[in-house]
Amino acid sequence: MTASNPLIDQFARRVSYLRLSVIDRCDLRCAYCMPERMTFLPKAEVLTLEELHKLSLGFIARGITKLRLTGGEPLVRRDMIELVRALGRKLGHGLEELTLTTNATRLAEFADDLAAAGVRRINVSLDTLDRATFARIARRDMLPQVLEGIAAAKAAGLAVKLNTVALKGINEDEIHDLIGWAHAQGMELTLIEVMPLGEVEQDRFDHYLPLDAVRESLARRWTLSPSGHRTGGPARYVDVAETGGRLGFITPLTYNFCEGCNRIRVTATGQLHPCLGGTEAVDLRAALRSADPDAALSAGLDEAMRIKPARHAFAIERRGEAPTLARHMSTTGG
Ligand code: SAM
Ligand code: SF4
Repeated sequence: MTASNPLIDQFARRVSYLRLSVIDRCDLRCAYCMPERMTFLPKAEVLTLEELHKLSLGFIARGITKLRLTGGEPLVRRDMIELVRALGRKLGHGLEELTLTTNATRLAEFADDLAAAGVRRINVSLDTLDRATFARIARRDMLPQVLEGIAAAKAAGLAVKLNTVALKGINEDEIHDLIGWAHAQGMELTLIEVMPLGEVEQDRFDHYLPLDAVRESLARRWTLSPSGHRTGGPARYVDVAETGGRLGFITPLTYNFCEGCNRIRVTATGQLHPCLGGTEAVDLRAALRSADPDAALSAGLDEAMRIKPARHAFAIERRGEAPTLARHMSTTGG
């Protein structure tokens, strides 16, 4: 099925990938992501299940073929699995892939339901295999649940890809082990540089670890060869000869990846952000709650294509400097 009116921005980039945040809340408090006393949105501001569904259908009608549900933590939203089931019915009918990004604390409970609804691959965020380090990063002692969740997902037949934020002085010495562990179980792993999104208690500068330095250190232990693998996303990949596995690098700060950007993001309140690193926004909740939601939604998507910027404006804040963007990753949907 081809969309009759696809989403193409002013730089001729075809947008086919939506990351939809279904909730801003989370059961963890990863120190680089949000403060301990994070202010969450009043429930009334968050889109209802029906609105999320309608919104998604509007995007699929305009050529979105890949849909990732995220948050906050998507699996703490109570009616989340109903949304997954409803969207799963669009697979093969416009939608090619339905996936989610999760911290996996509740994955053991939902893995089978996700697989039954048509989800084939998920991304799990895992920064460490050490329980004390996990509790330090996430400020909750939940590594056992996460590992159980990953095991359940694999048992349910889901392909699991791990995302690891590289943190100087916290998990940098463990990155080799994480890669070995992931690859031994057939999981791909992607390293991410910490991004300056939203205020947190700590100075992110203190833990910013440029991935070019990590790559050099990895190359002293493993044989890395550039991989032609591309997902249309920001990651660049290498193959690791010793493990036979694939390793990704997402480097928003040391390498700009915007040229081939095919994605947009919608927050749990229906704010469409055409760029993760920009302030541009279109209010799709207003469109959904207007007299003619279909027309207003489509007009909102046209507007988003007009304002999608050429590239993001991140820079790692210098010590003590405010983040580039006030919005947290958990708000935008990472
Ligand atoms: N709660 C889910 C999870 O952690 O997978 C989904 C949402 S979370 C915001 C998505 C991803 O964003 C996670 O992999 C997390 O590590 C990453 N993230 C959050 N804040 C970040 C930041 N400031 N810089 C880089 N990555 C960040
Ligand atoms: Fe929650 Fe994900 Fe942010 Fe961690 S990174 S606090 S799991 S939303």
